[in-house]
Amino acid sequence: MLAVTNTLTRAKEPLRPRTPGTVAMYTCGPTVYRYAHIGNLRTFLVADLLRRALEAGGTQVRQVQNITDVGHMTNEEFDRGEDRMLVSARLEDKSPAEIAAYYTEAFLADAAAFNLQPAAAYPRASEYVPQMQELVARLLESGHAYEVGGNVYFAVESFPGYGRLSGNTLERLRAGHRQEEPDPRKRHHADFALWKAAGPQRLVKWPSPWGDGYPGWHIECSAMSLATLGEHIDVHTGGEDNVFPHHEDEIAQSEAVVGHQVVTTWVHGRHLLTEDFKMSKSRGNFLSLRELTERGRGPLAARLLFLQARYRSPLNFTWDAVAGAERTLERLRSRVASWASDPGSGDGPGTGTGGYEARFWAAVDDDLDTPTALAVLHELEGDESLPPAARLAAVQAFDRFLGLDLDAEVGRALPAGAEALIAERERARAARDYAAADRLRDRLAEMGVEVTDTRAGTSWRLRP
Ligand code: AMP
Ligand code: ZN
Repeated sequence: MLAVTNTLTRAKEPLRPRTPGTVAMYTCGPTVYRYAHIGNLRTFLVADLLRRALEAGGTQVRQVQNITDVGHMTNEEFDRGEDRMLVSARLEDKSPAEIAAYYTEAFLADAAAFNLQPAAAYPRASEYVPQMQELVARLLESGHAYEVGGNVYFAVESFPGYGRLSGNTLERLRAGHRQEEPDPRKRHHADFALWKAAGPQRLVKWPSPWGDGYPGWHIECSAMSLATLGEHIDVHTGGEDNVFPHHEDEIAQSEAVVGHQVVTTWVHGRHLLTEDFKMSKSRGNFLSLRELTERGRGPLAARLLFLQARYRSPLNFTWDAVAGAERTLERLRSRVASWASDPGSGDGPGTGTGGYEARFWAAVDDDLDTPTALAVLHELEGDESLPPAARLAAVQAFDRFLGLDLDAEVGRALPAGAEALIAERERARAARDYAAADRLRDRLAEMGVEVTDTRAGTSWRLRP
């Protein structure tokens, strides 16, 4: 059974769904006024892996991922956040709705290229404003919220559990917590906005009982999760920066409305860093999947790179590391293709791989220990005592969790004569005749076959 670290209890716990056999999972989604960066994708990968691990164990997962297309859409944010040239090019004659539609499509394309399984639903925040207003009204009625000058605030002192998720209890917040835009009318400095009055520059706003305005960011996720998954959610995922205030506030809002715990397990992935700093739009050290591809690295090389670390450790992105992951991916794919084209005789799938399979799934179930799972995969890859067909079947099963398209080269046969040239080249390299090896590499390239040398041997790839 899969066990994960629950941020709420700070313990590794078996993930036991409330309804046996079915997991309800909510994944905090992207803000769509720009391309997702690969740090965002690292966080979304955690949810994808959880889901694949559960599904491999026969559990059905209903996953919902929201799209934040309101709440971060002021003109100022565009101007601060993005390259001005791009902004003006894109914003020319484009409404916020068009911008959101454009980047939502881009996100879904990135998610597909990164092999994130599609969610069952992608609710758009802009389509849930009535549900958000309904929650705000109920919080006002029950005394958990108050209105001042068109702004509605959640009263943190009305919710005794505030701070349980993040450890930022009111006691601790009192010391030194600073609000970005302090509103002197707030009753407690940690009170947060559920609804904000629209200023004169505001592009996107809705009428409400409290005047024209727009929702706070946190109420979006309460409204969309309650509306799409109901009052009991087994797992809720996000990045570490979501713990506070986003998820702390979501818990306060949702639980103050329904009167009981909503989310059982909170799972948070650590950040992707560049040179020890969080990859982020504001710092300007971010990389989108397109930029990665433009620099010659495939999306799934980044996926493998992320799998090489545990989701609970910060990870530094480097070009060397992603290049290494790409070479490993190519080698694995060519091994898998060669097993498929020459499966061997006699014993078939399943022969002798049981021990590897048990260790692989034990690692996965142990809080998604992907580095250990990959080590098992590499051991199996190198176990020449196993029939190729058995290795092929086991690796294909592993790949349903890893999502690396390890059989991408299967069936794409080498052109006639290439196999012999690859073998000849390996002999030349073994004899340190590098001039001959280079000539053979060129001949293979003319046939559309790219070879790469790794410590574990030569791998090949057909040029797309
Ligand atoms: P955003 O589109 O900014 O709302 O972010 C989408 C998701 O990406 C959130 O769950 C964040 O926690 C996560 N995230 C943001 N920056 C990083 C990063 N550098 N590494 C990993 N996850 C991140
Ligand atoms: Zn959220």
